[in-house]
Amino acid sequence: MRRLLLFLIACATLPAQKTEFRAGLAKLDITPSVPIWMSGYANRDHPSEGVLTRLYAKALAVEDNKRTRVVIVTTDLIGLPRAITDELSARAQKQYGLGRSQLLFNSSHTHTGPVVRPNLHTMYELHEPESAKLNDYAVKLREDLFTIIGAALGDLKPANLSFTQTTAGFAINRREVTPKGIRLGLNPGGPVDHSVPVLAVRGQDGSLKAILYGYACHNTTLTGQHYKISGDYAAYSQQELEATHSGAQAMFILLCGGDQNPNPRGTEEHAIQHGKSLADAVGKSLAGKLTPVRAPLRSAFQTVDLRFAIHTREQFEKEAQESNVFRARRAREMLALYDQRRPIRTTPYPVQAIRFGSEFTLLALGGEVVIDYALRAKKEFPHHQLVVAGYSNDVMCYIPSLRVLKEGGYEAVDSMVYYGMPGPFADDVEELVFDAITRTLRRVGVEKKK
Ligand SMILES: [Zn+2]
Repeated sequence: MRRLLLFLIACATLPAQKTEFRAGLAKLDITPSVPIWMSGYANRDHPSEGVLTRLYAKALAVEDNKRTRVVIVTTDLIGLPRAITDELSARAQKQYGLGRSQLLFNSSHTHTGPVVRPNLHTMYELHEPESAKLNDYAVKLREDLFTIIGAALGDLKPANLSFTQTTAGFAINRREVTPKGIRLGLNPGGPVDHSVPVLAVRGQDGSLKAILYGYACHNTTLTGQHYKISGDYAAYSQQELEATHSGAQAMFILLCGGDQNPNPRGTEEHAIQHGKSLADAVGKSLAGKLTPVRAPLRSAFQTVDLRFAIHTREQFEKEAQESNVFRARRAREMLALYDQRRPIRTTPYPVQAIRFGSEFTLLALGGEVVIDYALRAKKEFPHHQLVVAGYSNDVMCYIPSLRVLKEGGYEAVDSMVYYGMPGPFADDVEELVFDAITRTLRRVGVEKKK
């Protein structure tokens, strides 16, 4: 009894832990309410059949002691297009005064979730009633995403942030070299980045409120014959972390996994296994020593135009006659644009940086970014713990490095068909992206290695 009394007195006299931040959380279930067309695999021929895991949109708002705020939104979706994120950013600016650099959207790139138009629009030519279901879904999704941004900002409470990195080993480079060129397969010797950055958000009482973590690997354990809605390994890892850390919101960010696949893949068991191994790695890191994150928060955002290789009307007139339905469809779209005298020559590309004190910087790139970008960025900016996310703010197409572009294959050439882009990028794609990265990081005070 005496010991208990002493303990209670000690607790009562403990000073509240000093915090430099406030953090707020929100999430909504965004699982489609009806069977719906699923994205990611061109062979889909009917709508979804049931649900394996629920899909969520989650938001984390962080405010520093100078009232600078950022909101990070993660989604169990194939890829949010700019049409949606631009609209939401404009609304968030008006309603909450959030600048574009203060709002980050990331997509887990699940291939067992709904089509999110206009992402990958050339992949499916859908008619009613499927088309109407997708339009309804997109309308509701916009509202849900806006709701969680406001809810997370409305939930701001004193918080401590800490950061660490661990690793998980199931991602493998998928650009297999064959006598006929690069194909989607396994390339065990190819570049990978197995790091798993982890940001822990704790309340003033020390309780774990949120776990934000990332991995560079396509969320494609479940292949094209799977018709149950799910968030694949990323969803299983979030489920597992929320089950083992009761009360915490787990949020997955997809890093530069453009040319990385989970290995092995193909079954629900594989997706569960990868989810568990990622959650285990994150869980172990949370039990270890994390670096406290200090204020201030700094953010920057810019858009750069990336150029496509030269293309001509004649080339698409020829392509429109091909038996490949996807290429013929793309060619018709391109010819229509030539007719309107506005062929696609460039695409706008978003680059964002959010710097958390001096502890780490989240560099968020648009598109399906291949791993070379993460490896090069970390080498060029080694003084900062750089977390390089892809699939952020707009997933307009793949972003190959110059190496990948020269080698060819799916990420460089073939995928452009499904994204409704005119063809591969011009040879300066990597340099243009890195110029934008350098400028954006400079604006948050992160400089290149001398
Ligand atoms: Zn992809």
